Amino acid sequence: MPVGPFRANLEMCGCGKQARPQAERAFMSRFVARRMVESLPRVPLRGTLDLTYRCANDCRHCWLRLRPDAAEGASELSFDEIRRVVDEARSIGCREWALSGGEPMLRPDFEAVFSHVEAKSSWYTLNTNGTMITPAIARLLRRKGTKLVALYGSTAAVHDAVTRNPGSFAALERGIAYLREAGAGFTVQVVPMRTNIADYDAMVCLAASWSPSWRVGATWLYLSATGDARRNRDILTERLDPRRIVELDEAQAGGPAAAGEDAAPACAAASAGPGGLYAACLAGRRDFHVDPYGGMSFCSFVKDPALRLDLRAMTFAEAWEERLPRLAEAVPPSKAYDDACGTCDLRPDCKWCPVFAYLEHRDHAAPIAGLCDIARETRRARGEWLGTHRRRFRIAGLSVDVEADLPISDDTFEPKFDLFRSAVDGPADIVLSHHFSLPDLDAFDLGREVFRKAPWAVYRKDASWVYLMIPPDPSDPTVHRVMVFDDRHTRGHIYSPSDAPFRAGGLDSLALLPSDQLVLARALPGFGGVFVHAAGVDVGGHGLVFAGPSEAGKSTVVKLIGDRGRVLCDDRVIVRKDAGGFRVHGTWNHGEIRRVSPDSAPLRAVFFLRQAAANRIDRVDDPKAVLSGLLPRLVRPLVSADWWERVLGLAGEIVRDVPFYDLSFDKSGAIVDVLEGFLAGAK
Ligand code: SF4
Ligand code: SF4
Repeated sequence: MPVGPFRANLEMCGCGKQARPQAERAFMSRFVARRMVESLPRVPLRGTLDLTYRCANDCRHCWLRLRPDAAEGASELSFDEIRRVVDEARSIGCREWALSGGEPMLRPDFEAVFSHVEAKSSWYTLNTNGTMITPAIARLLRRKGTKLVALYGSTAAVHDAVTRNPGSFAALERGIAYLREAGAGFTVQVVPMRTNIADYDAMVCLAASWSPSWRVGATWLYLSATGDARRNRDILTERLDPRRIVELDEAQAGGPAAAGEDAAPACAAASAGPGGLYAACLAGRRDFHVDPYGGMSFCSFVKDPALRLDLRAMTFAEAWEERLPRLAEAVPPSKAYDDACGTCDLRPDCKWCPVFAYLEHRDHAAPIAGLCDIARETRRARGEWLGTHRRRFRIAGLSVDVEADLPISDDTFEPKFDLFRSAVDGPADIVLSHHFSLPDLDAFDLGREVFRKAPWAVYRKDASWVYLMIPPDPSDPTVHRVMVFDDRHTRGHIYSPSDAPFRAGGLDSLALLPSDQLVLARALPGFGGVFVHAAGVDVGGHGLVFAGPSEAGKSTVVKLIGDRGRVLCDDRVIVRKDAGGFRVHGTWNHGEIRRVSPDSAPLRAVFFLRQAAANRIDRVDDPKAVLSGLLPRLVRPLVSADWWERVLGLAGEIVRDVPFYDLSFDKSGAIVDVLEGFLAGAK
């Protein structure tokens, strides 16, 4: 699938490196669900600032590079101009910057620029080729942020063959040594291409020996920003074949990455509405790009001069608030797009985006043949992979896909889940993806902490939720599990520290948690449902819910009903609305009675359980009394205002549409006759 989906989060430096921080599982790419970002106010949250396109290296795949003495250097933003842009952006919301190039450290004022940007940001990312890191810069880079250092070969021979700059490998090694001496954590980006692909495994080993954090850089190489023919020939020569690209993407993502939610950039996925190819993208984006000359646009890949603004001629606020949204008009709706990528069946598995089409063909709407090949290969590989790494379940009428980096067997989950198994037919409503190593959290900005009480600390980052499972002792920094969900909690990536429990099998939860309620209860209101602490039974087609806290007698009532009803679950049910009204659905979260069922029945009555000396049923008419009895029985995961509002709305409808009763009962079993009498009267 993405959390992320979520290729939207790829950022590129001049090095053609993806600035998607690694954690063996492309954590960051699944971290920020920008597809949902429309729900956030339109403020410029993140900027990418290319400090220069000059670089002493001359990499074979580079799409931006200029010579160190290029005349364009004279047109680069001065420190004062950069400071103005950064301060103005900050004043209207920007809190994160990515510094890139070319090689940003080529600027003599790099330390001053970095210090200012870092001081004005809650998080920064820096892309560098590592050759110009000095001890002083290494000490500066101890400040918390993401530092990405490119590696093009495990030996000087290979590395320098890519950079066409003899001595660049030795300079990189020196820079790495300075970083390590200073204790500045960093991520090594292994950048694969034809010249170095035979050296790939050795590069990975070297990267891992330098830093616990490494990742694979861009696997698809973009053509030159300026359309330079010589450079394009070099880049085309370096492109890997589709199969290798897909393998590398899989290695990076812990599974087929470019599919489903994660496939295309959110901007592309949402593009091409009636307002033009970029209209939806521009409306949804909360980030922007500034080039070395003060040119601003909404994405670092945008190289069409018609889509860039001049920050030297306007304030940042004017550019962001007035001029940028109007750029949508520059690329109108396109029949060529509608006839090709806009209606392409492979689109969910394709990296295509109008910005890449422009780089390839100087035409925003054109398909890219190389990406078509990769999309076909991605789909083939994903289909193959899903056959062994995915299981579909069905609960409350919703399909829940579980995907894992390891194959899923019939023994992975407890046998009770077999009842809920379902054939795959179309996209799932909820997707949970399991990974078996924890991301390096120090390398990421987790966002704003919104909740902390063991076992969970929860952070909000744009439209994503990040859960850390923490120990009760606040001084213990251990994190036992990391989960990243999109806003609706319908796409989740779950990172466990070990694969041993998964391999051992017999798991009691699809999310590998003590209970799946945390996930399902969050997602359900979006589908018109609530998770209820109650038993559910189908008696002759009547769905009856028995609500009460632990020890209230839910299992007892279910036992007393015995074979006269069909048990849906004795401890947790889901109440969900469909076209015919509310239904009660069984869940796998049973209590004392292990009988569970994926079935459902129309909800005819809800009973509040009261153990007593008598057996009787009394209607509760007062809606306030009903609501105050029902609300404590609703399973509350992490409660946010929008979630609670939805739940309250549903609870109100349930109270309006379904009769509620007090059910007093003793343990004689006589209550069953009372219930049958009740049902007979209700018919
Ligand atoms: S290191 Fe290579 S890829 Fe990166 S900016 Fe320099 S020339 Fe381009
Ligand atoms: S580039 Fe090719 S595969 Fe991708 S969306 Fe366009 S036509 Fe489809």
